Amino acid sequence: MKWVGVGFSVLLSAVLIGSRWKGVELWFPGNHVVGVVSGVLRGEMHVPFQSTAHAAGVVTISPSPWLLWWFRLYRRGAHAVIDIPLWVLLLPMLLATIAAWRLDTLARRRILAGECASCGYDRPATPAGANCPECGGK
Ligand SMILES: [Zn+2]
Repeated sequence: MKWVGVGFSVLLSAVLIGSRWKGVELWFPGNHVVGVVSGVLRGEMHVPFQSTAHAAGVVTISPSPWLLWWFRLYRRGAHAVIDIPLWVLLLPMLLATIAAWRLDTLARRRILAGECASCGYDRPATPAGANCPECGGK
């Protein structure tokens, strides 16, 4: 679990630093065929959507070449554009990874101190490998 978190965090950081994807722009409605085709060629993603206001259209997801610090909502021509900073995705991933590492370190320290890894019960008399007499954990 913690290694998955580390992997995703490193990957997201690499994308953030090394690529044009320093942020994500969502375009609404952007339902012009020419715009969609040229956008795909520029590395954009287009997600079809159905809305009540418009019969059908596409949400255009395009990279932001500059680092976005916060959400932004503005109009560009006929489009409504939402900027989403990628670090907002990275932050919870980093926090979860740090939490997983902390829990793991705590459990290892308890085992070294002769305590139960899950509840911390001091069990010097319990043979190694036996279940904890306090919580039943290993
Ligand atoms: Zn226990």
